[in-house]
Amino acid sequence: MVIGTVALSGCTQEDENKIIIGTSADFPPFEYKASNQTIIGFDIDLIKKILTDQGYTVEVQDIGFDSLIPSLQTGKIDVIAAAMTITDARLQEVDFSDPYYDANQAVLVKVGVPINITNIEDLKNYTVGAQTGSTGWAWVNDTLVATGKLSSDNFKSYDLYTDAVADLIIGPERVGAIVIDSPVAQAFAEKGNVKIALDIITNENYGFAVKKGNTELLAQINEGLTAVKATTYWDDLIEEYFAS
Ligand code: GLN
Repeated sequence: MVIGTVALSGCTQEDENKIIIGTSADFPPFEYKASNQTIIGFDIDLIKKILTDQGYTVEVQDIGFDSLIPSLQTGKIDVIAAAMTITDARLQEVDFSDPYYDANQAVLVKVGVPINITNIEDLKNYTVGAQTGSTGWAWVNDTLVATGKLSSDNFKSYDLYTDAVADLIIGPERVGAIVIDSPVAQAFAEKGNVKIALDIITNENYGFAVKKGNTELLAQINEGLTAVKATTYWDDLIEEYFAS
C-alpha cells in the first residue's frame, strides 16, 4: 500500500497540516480587525493564500508585536506575518522569506493642532510615540534619544500602534507625534483625524519570518510567494488594500 506522504514541514502543532500564523493586528492595511473582529489585511490574505495553496490549513493568532519572535522561537507559532522589516538584528533570531513589500517611516500628527514638524529636528519639541520593538521605535531611540535630541521622558512606548493613534487623536497632552511605517501612516491618515507631517526614508523590506533553520517551510513560502505574484491574485490584493 502506498501512503501519500506530502512533505508538509515544520509545523510545531500536533496537526501536521496546520500552520499557526502569528500577527499583531494593529497595523492596517497589513493586519487589523474587521468590524466583526476577524483579523484581515494584506499580509494575512497573502500568507493564507500561499499556505493553503500548498495544502496547509491555517489559524491566525493575535500576539503583541514584541512577543512575535519569542513565540516563533518557542514554537507557539509557525510563521510571523506582521509587516515585519527584515533587519540584521532579527536575522540573528529568525529566518525571513523573500521581501514582499517596501516601506519607510512617517511622522503622524493630529489634524488641526498647532504642531510644526518640517524636519526631524523639530520632533524634539513634542512627545514622540512608537510601538515597542518596531523599527519606528528603534529609529526614534537611535536617531533622537541616543543622540540627546529628544529626552527619554518625551519618548512614549506603546504595545499597540492602535493605542498610539488613539492617544494622538486625544491630543498633544498624550502624544504629539507618532513614528510609524509609511503605508500604515497612510491608512490611518485616510480616516481623517491624523495626517502625515514628515516622511523618513529608511528603505525597509517586509518579510515573513519562520523559526531559524526551518528551511523547508521557508522554501515553501518563497515558492508560494513567487507563484502568487505571477497571478492576478496579487494585483487584486494590492487593489483591495492599497487603492484609496
Ligand atoms: N515594519 C516595522 C517593524 O518591523 C513595524 C511592524 C509592526 O509594527 N507591525 O518593526
